[in-house]
Amino acid sequence: MADPKGFLTTGREVAKTRPVAERVKDWNEVYVPGSLLPIISKQAGRCMDCGIPFCHNGCPLGNLIPEWNDYAYREDWTAASERLHATNNFPEFTGRLCPAPCESACVLGINQPAVTIKNVEVSIIDKAWDSGDVTPQPPERLSGKTVAVIGSGPAGLAAAQQLTRAGHTVVVYERADRIGGLLRYGIPEFKMEKSHINRRIEQMRLEGTKFRTGVEIGQDIDAAKLRRRYDAVVIAAGATVSRDLPVPGRELNGVHFAMEYLPLANKVQEGDLTVAPIHAGGKHVVVIGGGDTGADCVGTAHRQGAASVTQLEIMPKPGEERNANQPWPTFPMLYKVTSAHEEGGERVYSVSTTHFEGDEDGNVQALHLVEVEFKDGKLEQKPGTERRIPAQLVTLAMGFTGTDQSNGLVQQFGLELDQRGNVARDESYATNVDGVFVAGDAGRGQSLIVWAIAEGRSAARGVDRFLTGTSALPAPIRPTDRSLLV
Ligand SMILES: Cc1cc2nc3c(=O)[nH]c(=O)nc-3n(C[C@H](O)[C@H](O)[C@H](O)COP(=O)(O)OP(=O)(O)OC[C@H]3O[C@@H](n4cnc5c(N)ncnc54)[C@H](O)[C@@H]3O)c2cc1C
Ligand code: SF4
Repeated sequence: MADPKGFLTTGREVAKTRPVAERVKDWNEVYVPGSLLPIISKQAGRCMDCGIPFCHNGCPLGNLIPEWNDYAYREDWTAASERLHATNNFPEFTGRLCPAPCESACVLGINQPAVTIKNVEVSIIDKAWDSGDVTPQPPERLSGKTVAVIGSGPAGLAAAQQLTRAGHTVVVYERADRIGGLLRYGIPEFKMEKSHINRRIEQMRLEGTKFRTGVEIGQDIDAAKLRRRYDAVVIAAGATVSRDLPVPGRELNGVHFAMEYLPLANKVQEGDLTVAPIHAGGKHVVVIGGGDTGADCVGTAHRQGAASVTQLEIMPKPGEERNANQPWPTFPMLYKVTSAHEEGGERVYSVSTTHFEGDEDGNVQALHLVEVEFKDGKLEQKPGTERRIPAQLVTLAMGFTGTDQSNGLVQQFGLELDQRGNVARDESYATNVDGVFVAGDAGRGQSLIVWAIAEGRSAARGVDRFLTGTSALPAPIRPTDRSLLV
């Protein structure tokens, strides 16, 4: 156990963010650099090392949280990093971006603020990189087997790293021009600077993983050719089809999917563009959708100098305390103020967009909405509540409907889909096609980075067993697991 009295003597303290006025002028991460390490050992000391650590179950990766809390408390950063990497290939991603369902399941959280698990995680991994503890781990011998991974998001990367380390020759195919999936071209720089992806890719290259960018499987290489060339295939193509809003005026200029808008801002940060072709500067911006993607649009619009930013959500405003039907240790739906929300803008709940209004040139100028309420389990419009708000840029951030079928990937492999339209798989992540596996959002539907990494690791075990008849790789989760939680 870390500090036997830590939870009694130390209060919860989280990472400090930079002042809003400063951070909206740049794209760097919102946190004060270096502010966490001086406080983190004491924070880790709040861990009670419970007999049954529910946080393990809260974390889809089964991270060994009390163990690395103990090492972090003792400032044995090398041992802490080793325990962290035992279950998580990329803690620098989850330590920055995970909604931390582990903290919702923390036993201390029953009657006190939970341990700052996510902050401890990111401190351990940042320290490990700084001290040179993260080194390539190439396999001792090669198996002679080959694996193609389609998609380079967190699921594809986790699967590729596990399989490479198991001795297989792994090639990751990515249709975008850079590796990283939504980590690269969805999540803005101010949430995670892309240098974190770049150094992991370099580690993976040195371990032997090969990367091919600008190659769309189904278009540039067909499924039959890929199957002939590789002994196994992992589909980690994400759930990239955005949910649309088919209301009058949807066709107007200035109404875009969030994933048309956000990647352009990322490309400016990568140095590919000087100005994003879809830009919020001087405009009234309306973001439709109250989730992570919507919040990323809000933060991006602020940095681009929007005149105003309004975020709309069809569901009612969540409460600030757990609902009775979401008791500890489940992951509750709570009102969340992200760093982007701290930076300004208005959030409007229980509203639905009826139509968009444009000018004579076909540019969007306003959005019309109506309040909605649940009646007998159904959402109904409230008469007389219609109103108009100015909007010269609208982003649609209402989630994703599934994996992209327009490029022939699903059809060429002959993949079966489940009832939700995701690629169907069995307990070992195998699809209906022999030797073809699926991991991450492509099989689970739109989800979280932590699930994508957990699925990538588990699918790698399925592939390893398929190729060699046995596997020493861990499998943290089964496809059917929703854990307690998210
Ligand atoms: C804007 C936004 C913000 C988010 N923020 C968070 C957050 O803060 N925290 C969190 O936990 N989760 C967040 N998420 C969700 C998270 O990013 C995803 O759940 C996660 O990235 C899924 O990983 P994946 O590897 O399954 O797929 P993806 O990351 O979607 O990667 C799939 C990759 O496959 C490639 N691909 C697809 N088809 C082909 C093909 N035929 N050939 C070659 N390549 C192909 C795509 O180009 C893509 O790069 C966010 C999502 C979005 C959209
Ligand atoms: S990956 Fe997420 S759930 Fe797991 S320990 Fe880290 S913050 Fe918690």
